[in-house]
Amino acid sequence: MSSLKKDFFKYGKVEDCPVYDMHGHMGAFYGAHFPIPDPDSMVRRMRRCGVKFLAFCHHANLFSEWKNNTENIEAVRRYPKELRAYCGVNPNYPDSINEMLSKFDEFRDVFIGFKMLPDYHGMPLTHENYRPVWEFADRNSLIVLIHSWGNSPNDGPEQIGLVAEKYQKLKINMGHSCHGEWDKALALVNKFPNLYLDLCAVLDDRGILEKFVKETDVEKILFGTDFPWFDYHWYIGAVMGADITDTDRRKILHGNAEKLLKSCGRSK
Ligand SMILES: [Zn+2]
Repeated sequence: MSSLKKDFFKYGKVEDCPVYDMHGHMGAFYGAHFPIPDPDSMVRRMRRCGVKFLAFCHHANLFSEWKNNTENIEAVRRYPKELRAYCGVNPNYPDSINEMLSKFDEFRDVFIGFKMLPDYHGMPLTHENYRPVWEFADRNSLIVLIHSWGNSPNDGPEQIGLVAEKYQKLKINMGHSCHGEWDKALALVNKFPNLYLDLCAVLDDRGILEKFVKETDVEKILFGTDFPWFDYHWYIGAVMGADITDTDRRKILHGNAEKLLKSCGRSK
């Protein structure tokens, strides 16, 4: 049996295998109840489960206009060791986006990049309103976490291919890995060096992580959970239970994220 799995199931965390979660959120959300949505309880849970680092975007900063991303900034400055944020981008407020970009440098300690949610905001990734953000992220080698979903006209494989081709200095964390269109997601990461697979919502489908490990370089896979939507013990447990090696697990759970953050000048 894998020694990581044995230790994780016994102690609830593995000291020498810290977890980096590259896709999370924060705060209450309409129509859902989260028992632990606030920064204090989230960080407490992270420590209990051996999660050393979380890159997130607060729900309030995802759906409103820029408004200084107050919730993101306050949370990161309260927990600078554990947290970094993706600056929320809502393309329905183009003026607000320009204001955000002009202030971005003031918050270099907070943001590792941007978060886009095209299906929810009703605009495709290639929409003109996103362009200033793509260009800014590319100039500054930032990470863009996008929501992606199979067969979506806004953030499906075709749209992602177009932006990955055009902006090659930035890194794209493909949230949910085009859920359902797994082969197309794999074809994309195998084609574009700046594109990564994200495990969030992928682990609800048995065997897909094994397929990813078999059909691409394991270094293209990032751990992500949508925490606090999903809990860490379940999510890390699913990686521990997959039919892959401990070397793969260490890369997925922390090594790949550490390398990515370092390559963007944001090492932890
Ligand atoms: Zn998400």
